[in-house]
Amino acid sequence: MNFDFTEEQQLLRKTVRQFVDSEIMPFISKWDTDGSFDPAIWKRLAQLGLMGVCIPEKYGGAGMDYNSLAIVCEELERGDTAFRTAVSVHTGLNSMTLLQWGTEAQKQKYLMPQAKGEKIGAFGLTEPGAGSDVASMASFAKREGDVYILNGQKTWISLCDVADHFIVFAYTDKSKKHHGITAFIVERTMPGFSSKAIKGKYGIRAGNTGELFFEDVRIPVENRLGEEGEGFKIAMSALDNGRFTVAAGAVGLISACLEASVKYCKERMTFGKYIGEHQLVGQMIAKMEAGYQMSRLLVYRVGELKNQGVRNTRETSLAKWQACDFANKAADDAVQIHGAYGYSDEYPVARYLRNSKAPVIYEGTREIHTIMQADYVLGRRVDKPLNKMLPKWPFEE
Ligand SMILES: Cc1cc2nc3c(=O)[nH]c(=O)nc-3n(C[C@H](O)[C@H](O)[C@H](O)COP(=O)(O)OP(=O)(O)OC[C@H]3O[C@@H](n4cnc5c(N)ncnc54)[C@H](O)[C@@H]3O)c2cc1C
Repeated sequence: MNFDFTEEQQLLRKTVRQFVDSEIMPFISKWDTDGSFDPAIWKRLAQLGLMGVCIPEKYGGAGMDYNSLAIVCEELERGDTAFRTAVSVHTGLNSMTLLQWGTEAQKQKYLMPQAKGEKIGAFGLTEPGAGSDVASMASFAKREGDVYILNGQKTWISLCDVADHFIVFAYTDKSKKHHGITAFIVERTMPGFSSKAIKGKYGIRAGNTGELFFEDVRIPVENRLGEEGEGFKIAMSALDNGRFTVAAGAVGLISACLEASVKYCKERMTFGKYIGEHQLVGQMIAKMEAGYQMSRLLVYRVGELKNQGVRNTRETSLAKWQACDFANKAADDAVQIHGAYGYSDEYPVARYLRNSKAPVIYEGTREIHTIMQADYVLGRRVDKPLNKMLPKWPFEE
């Protein structure tokens, strides 16, 4: 396996880093406090080709490989988790799912403008009564001729007020349990659709998260994604891509924790020494570094598996679980290293700690990934190739 980044990937990293340094860093503290950000950021992300970095050029993307998406996520989360979450949802959970499961017409109509950044995509799986236990969802879509009538509610949906298109999951046949769930592409403009932001979040405050409501939303049959009953499988395959981006972002968060902590270690003195010279502080720095390097290896290995077009649910779950746990711990230690100053807005580390918590919950909680890994190792879970796989890279034109 080759661990070197190509020149193109190095340039991509530099571009995103410069963008984060000049267009996110100076404003993020205010956006985080106000719970908002300048929507012009979307246009800039699109101009830089970051809204469809690993989508084939024939569908409006940049045509780069899957590890390039990891680079974008890693660098964006160095700035703030809200922006990486937006790319995770837009590209990882929505666009890549359309690429894998969409019809040619759906790709032309929905994927193309999303990859170009002209439209924004999001993903509605979680419900008030159904998070980890997806099959306990209540949303239902009843077929009547050429349309499905969708009723239900989703919650904790990233980009709820911002996205133009949503991939939404609902039962079409409750008696079939997991096999009775179907995926749909829902447009914000469809009558009966509404959304509402959740206020007072602990972290990712510069991001938009909230509820979706469907009251007799009429969805044309051509907006069904995959076949009836394939929704659960589609949702899980979408999570393989979303989790990859979350794990990559966690690597970026650890690097941000390291950056801030190393700097502070060389500034702050106690007992006549810089605090970095105290062994117990050095130990926290060493653990951050170990978490950073291990997470990176796990993440870029998954990207390579995606490039090869092979199933990677097991490896992605491991990378997401470990990288997010390492990031959460690194952020906690970064606050510790900063002492009381870390507990204020004066330094970014308190924001890192708040932001590091949601990734341990969304796209499979820490506990769900622990169960998955135990199941794989104990032979209770074995993955087979899906009937439709994400295209391998380089893409066929
Ligand atoms: C900021 C943010 C953004 C989000 N964005 C999206 C989005 O864009 N789209 C979307 O669909 N969802 C999104 N979510 C929702 C997220 O995916 C869910 O919160 C997550 O799946 C967990 O579900 P839950 O919150 O209902 O917790 P629950 O499933 O109710 O779990 C509660 C606790 O019980 C534990 N638990 C549950 N089952 C088991 C078990 N079998 N064994 C051991 N422990 C268990 C969990 O690990 C957890 O600790 C987002 C969440 C957040 C916080």
